[in-house]
Amino acid sequence: MKTLTVIGAGIAGLTCAIYAQRSGIKTTILEKAGGPGGVSTSWKRKGYTFEGGIHWLIGSRPGLPLYDVWTETGALCANNPVFYKDPVYTLIDGNTVLELPRSTKQMQKALGAFSPVDKAALAVLRFHVWCFTFFHTPILDLAGLKVKHPRRFSLSEFLKMGPAVLLTPYLMSFSAGRYIKRFRNPHIRRLLEAVVDPRINALSLIYTLSAFDDGDGGYPEGGSLRMSQNMADTFTSLGGQIMYHTAATGVRETSNGVSVLTEGGSLQSDAVVISSDARTAIDKLFPEPLETRWAKRLRSKLHTAQCMFVALGIKADLSDCPRCMHIVLKRPLEAGGLRFETLTVNNYAREDDYAPEGCTTLTCILPGASYHYWKAVREEGLYKQRKQEVIADFISRIEEELPQTHGQVEATDLATPLTWERYCDTFEGSYMSDWLPWHFNANAPIRFRPGIFFTGQRTAFSGGLPVAAETGRRTAQILCKSLGVEFVSRPEPKEI
Ligand SMILES: Cc1cc2nc3c(=O)[nH]c(=O)nc-3n(C[C@H](O)[C@H](O)[C@H](O)COP(=O)(O)OP(=O)(O)OC[C@H]3O[C@@H](n4cnc5c(N)ncnc54)[C@H](O)[C@@H]3O)c2cc1C
Repeated sequence: MKTLTVIGAGIAGLTCAIYAQRSGIKTTILEKAGGPGGVSTSWKRKGYTFEGGIHWLIGSRPGLPLYDVWTETGALCANNPVFYKDPVYTLIDGNTVLELPRSTKQMQKALGAFSPVDKAALAVLRFHVWCFTFFHTPILDLAGLKVKHPRRFSLSEFLKMGPAVLLTPYLMSFSAGRYIKRFRNPHIRRLLEAVVDPRINALSLIYTLSAFDDGDGGYPEGGSLRMSQNMADTFTSLGGQIMYHTAATGVRETSNGVSVLTEGGSLQSDAVVISSDARTAIDKLFPEPLETRWAKRLRSKLHTAQCMFVALGIKADLSDCPRCMHIVLKRPLEAGGLRFETLTVNNYAREDDYAPEGCTTLTCILPGASYHYWKAVREEGLYKQRKQEVIADFISRIEEELPQTHGQVEATDLATPLTWERYCDTFEGSYMSDWLPWHFNANAPIRFRPGIFFTGQRTAFSGGLPVAAETGRRTAQILCKSLGVEFVSRPEPKEI
């Protein structure tokens, strides 16, 4: 029986490991943290659950190619039905409240009535979204690989993607922020800014709106933790082994395969898949930092996507407030060396088990590169103090905007890029690569050397959970091909 070691039990590592194990490769995962999921995770504080991972899941709608990966890996199953927020965002600017419906048709109608001067721009937006209606992350089989349940990809499916393919270079050439500027009404601009970080390309904005319009981008009940635990359970039920609290410290080629070093010893196998951040791995896991052409490009041409994440547990029932509020602040919030004029606040009051009875969890992602700020602050010995200041300032803004929360905050947390660096060893504490206008981040190859593979973020551009799942499956296929093993994607009847 062939053997495999996977470094990392994030979504990419789990996806790859499940397919490999199901295909008959004896697989062991080494995970430095105490549980599965990697950066796609949530945690508890004083009875409140802070969802620090999934906000929307691409491929959550049945019928989409990626949906098959989520169900084949057990990520989506009976215990986590998906629900779909509608409206997806609600702008709150003083007395003005403006909703962004999922359906672009409804969006065009509602926002057109709100701002008639923007009717033409809304029609163009709707057309652009329509072009992406049939564009879905393709899940294909590797040429020349023996596959037990081959996937079909018809010519008509390919042709339907034509409008999106033609529009892609144009939308990649400028930022989402510039796209949004074609709207004259400042409230519509603000509302659209909630969808994606305005610095990244306009393609990401249109693609995301198209996913919403298409009935995709839902939230599985139980969020990140339940989804990644489902995947870990699928893997172990197939006979795979996960070793938590076990960090890989090195990868060495040996005469009969690959050896993965850990603090407690080493693990020999026919192959290794590195699903931990490839940008970190090229400096840390090999006898010398890698100096291949792609590794040099990865060092020089990488824009990391970073954020801070604030979470509050509040002794008040906010179920009458929108699920996702994009709040325009009366005065900007300074945090992590960055300035925020708006806060996108997720309200979990209507979700079961996120807070004690009558209480509410609120979370907010503050996007932008703050890693170097927090690193400098830590070196000055001021890390905890600065974090407390950000939390206090954040609470005061929430109290200003939602007076019913005044004096009711009883649990708080702030994750900075240093948090993700500490727990998951991601480069600069990032959770994926930013896709800026006309910029292609360099990637690591999936098959680096015979027996050594990379997967996950940094092996395909853009990022997030779809990239983790798609590259995880693709890596398993490339691995199966190189080991001469048939690829088995679906559960055998006895597994169900
Ligand atoms: C706040 C937040 C919200 C997000 N929201 C969304 C969303 O709504 N939709 C979406 O699609 N994406 C979202 N993302 C992004 C998405 O979660 C990530 O891009 C994705 O989970 C990355 O998966 P991965 O498996 O490639 O990497 P990781 O999750 O980084 O997995 C790598 C794993 O390797 C482990 N590891 C690292 N070094 C070692 C070592 N030496 N030895 C052993 N193990 C090691 C790590 O602990 C980790 O478990 C969000 C991310 C964040 C932070």
